Formats: sequence, C-alpha cells, structure tokens
Amino acid sequence: MEKTFEVIVVGGGFAGVAAVRALGRAGVEVLLIDQNNYHQFQPLLYQVATAQIGVSDVTRTFRGMFQRYRSATVLTARVAAVDVQAHTVTTSDGDTFHAQILVLAAGAEANYFNTPGAEENAYPLYSVTDAVRLGNALVHALDAAQRQGSGSGGVHVVVVGGGPTGVETAGAIAENFKYVVPKYFSNDVAARSSVHLVDMVPSVLTPFSDRNKAYATRRLRQAGVRLKMGSGVTEVRRDGVDFADGASLPSQIVVWAGGLKAGTLIAQSGLPQGRGGRIDVNPDLTAPGTTGVYVLGDAANMTDSRGEKLPQLGSCAQQAGKWAARNILADLKGGRRKPFAYLDKGYMAMIGRGAAVAEIGRKRWQIQGPLAFLAWLAVHVVLLSGKRQRVSALISWADDYLTHSRSHVVLGGPDRG
Ligand SMILES: Cc1cc2nc3c(=O)[nH]c(=O)nc-3n(C[C@H](O)[C@H](O)[C@H](O)COP(=O)(O)OP(=O)(O)OC[C@H]3O[C@@H](n4cnc5c(N)ncnc54)[C@H](O)[C@@H]3O)c2cc1C
Repeated sequence: MEKTFEVIVVGGGFAGVAAVRALGRAGVEVLLIDQNNYHQFQPLLYQVATAQIGVSDVTRTFRGMFQRYRSATVLTARVAAVDVQAHTVTTSDGDTFHAQILVLAAGAEANYFNTPGAEENAYPLYSVTDAVRLGNALVHALDAAQRQGSGSGGVHVVVVGGGPTGVETAGAIAENFKYVVPKYFSNDVAARSSVHLVDMVPSVLTPFSDRNKAYATRRLRQAGVRLKMGSGVTEVRRDGVDFADGASLPSQIVVWAGGLKAGTLIAQSGLPQGRGGRIDVNPDLTAPGTTGVYVLGDAANMTDSRGEKLPQLGSCAQQAGKWAARNILADLKGGRRKPFAYLDKGYMAMIGRGAAVAEIGRKRWQIQGPLAFLAWLAVHVVLLSGKRQRVSALISWADDYLTHSRSHVVLGGPDRG
C-alpha cells in the first residue's frame, strides 16, 4: 500500500537538507529519501581523496541531523522512478510513496560529454565513495612506483577541468607530491611524479577575474602543477590522455572534473530538460507544467530575481532549499509562492597552503593569498555540518599546516578498482 506524506524530498544534499530542516521546524510531515544514510559535504571531497581530512569530517547521518524534528522521517533507499503527475516516488526496493508536494533535489553526476574512455577510465569526484576510491588509487600507484624502485617512471596524474574542483584537486595532489609523499615514500617516488591540469578553455577558473586567474595560475605552477590549457581531451585511456591538438600525456590516474549533468532520475522524470540535463524551473522553483513539484540545486537551472542563471554551487542549493520550504508552506496554507531571491555571496577556490582566491559579494570584491585562504577556512568551517565535524576538520587542517602530516596518504584499502 502506498504511504502518504505532505512532502517528499528526494536527495539530502545542500538543497534537500535545507528544505527538510525548514519543513521539520514548521511541523510539516516530510519524508526525506536518500540513497545514503548520510549527508555528504561535496566541497571538501578532494581533501578526503588527498588525506587532508577524514570521511567522518565530511559526512553526517540524516537521522542525527533531523532527530529533533518529530514530523520528519528519513528513508535510506535509491529512488528508481518518480511520477511528477501522480506525485509518487518508487524506490529500487519496489516501495511507492505519495505526497501532496514533491521536491526533487537529487543533485548531479559527472558529465563526460561522450569522451571515449572517460567513464571507464577516469575517476569522478562527486561522492564520498568517489573520494575514497581516488585516494586508494593514488596510494596504490605510489606503492607500485616505490616497489618498482628507481627504474619506475613515478606516478602521473591528469586532472581534467580547470574550474574550482579541478584547481583544488590538482593543487592538493601536487602539494602531496611536494611535501607529504617524500616523508613516507622512498626511492624519489615524488620527484619522478607529476600532476597535470588540463582544460579546453585558455585559462583556469573561468568565472573569476583576470587578476585571480593569473594568481591561481602562478600559484599552481609554483606548487608543481603543469598546465595544459586550450585543447580538449579526445580520449581517456587506461595509461594516458589524448588531446584534440594531437598531444598525449601518459598517466595512471585521470581525475574527471570536466563538468556535470543532472542525474538519471531527473532524465527519466519526463520533465523537459534544459542545459546540462537540468530542469529549467520557474522563478518560484517549481517545475514547469506540474503542480506541487519543485526541482532544486544541481538538478535545476535556477535563476535569481533579475532572471540571471545561477551556478551549480552549494550556497545556491542551500538557499533554494530554504526558499522552496517557504513556498511549500504557502502552498499548504493557501498562501502565495514568491520568486527565489538569491543572496549572492560570491565564490572562492583554494589552491594550496596559504593560497586561495575569492570574489566576495555581488560586487565581486577580489582577494587572494593568505587573506583569501583564511576566508576560505572560515567559510568552510561555518558551512560544514555538525560541531564534531567542524572541530575535527580544524584539528586536521592545523596539524597539516604545521607539520604536513597527512598520514592517511599511506593507507590504501584493498579495492584497487
Ligand atoms: C568536488 C566538488 C567540489 C565543490 N566545491 C564547491 C565549493 O567550494 N563551493 C560551493 O558552493 N559549491 C561547491 N561544489 C558544488 C556543490 O557541492 C553542489 O552545488 C551542491 O552539493 C549541490 O547540492 P544539491 O543538494 O543540489 O545536490 P547534492 O549535494 O549532490 O545532493 C544530492 C543528493 O541526492 C542523493 N541522490 C541522488 N540520486 C538519488 C536517487 N536516485 N535516490 C536517492 N537519493 C539520490 C545523493 O545521495 C545526494 O545526497 C562542489 C562540488 C563538488 C562535486
């Protein structure tokens, strides 16, 4: 028999969690369904993969988060199908749930743009599982290089995508090779290894100012990252990457930070898809052609109050979740929905030790270097979910900053997949 709720939220990322919290606080009977029993903090996944912080710093169980809201129920299940007209969702276990209002906040997945070999051979970085898998692959490659002795060619990593995720990941791996790996591995493994950051566009960090782009480029190079910009990747092989300009780079590990698209659930929902497979939602965050269906965060193309497209960012998703909850309360009480008014706080990217860039607020106040690094730390401590997670991440960062002790860099699980 179908179970009925006032609201069902599919996906407990930034958007879903913000919506459930606001609805739970208001006493709305809400069901959150996520394939994991925990929320994951995507902006720091690259730090898990590079052994700067642990898995428990970037995850928090939904039941722990929502235990104080008696009207909120959590279900761990993968949603296999959604019927936006009948307002039902069906899980892969075959259970069906019905609600007056559906919120689809199932996030995004890697977009390989049909690049041959990319899905099979590259490592995406969109979940804790991805981060652990990439971390293991890095450790196993380092172990193999050490076993082979000084005759080995070292470990060569190619990061595809010069946006914030690619920059942060390439910077962190290069820092590991420069400062951390030499502490734990012998035979000059680090000296024989390399990190390449590649993109088809001419410079890193496209949405940032020229000044911040130049700073990021300089600091990446100082950290040891080799940049190959202006030529697209045409194939990812098991042992390297080929480019449109005819060049190739040998590599054991390719990290894919080259773009994202809405997940398969959204693709199969029957809703008309826009750019990146996302749903072009109405200004009030509802899906066009439906009643009582909201699509939020990375699954949606959302606009601000001036009609400008919003980027796929945690702050956009989080604010959209809160806003949608207000509109849902209006729906349930017979009020009027309001168009989403996004408060633009700007964006930032970490490059490495003491080096970051930030463009703050709507006016894009530009900062870089240690000040931006401190701003980045402050913002991420505030954004992290849970007191224990914040304290633990701060301790790891302080230890790392003072001693370069990323001892997890020597841990690798048995899964070499
Ligand atoms: C590596 C990385 C670094 C980033 N860095 C930054 C940054 O520094 N600053 C910033 O603002 N943003 C950053 N972002 C972007 C930001 O993390 C996303 O915009 C944000 O997480 C989107 O939130 P969301 O709620 O829409 O989706 P998500 O956070 O992706 O959450 C989606 C949820 O849906 C669940 N789900 C998916 N499919 C199903 C299904 N079929 N059934 C059940 N559950 C399902 C998932 O398990 C997940 O919990 C980064 C993203 C990545 C990947």
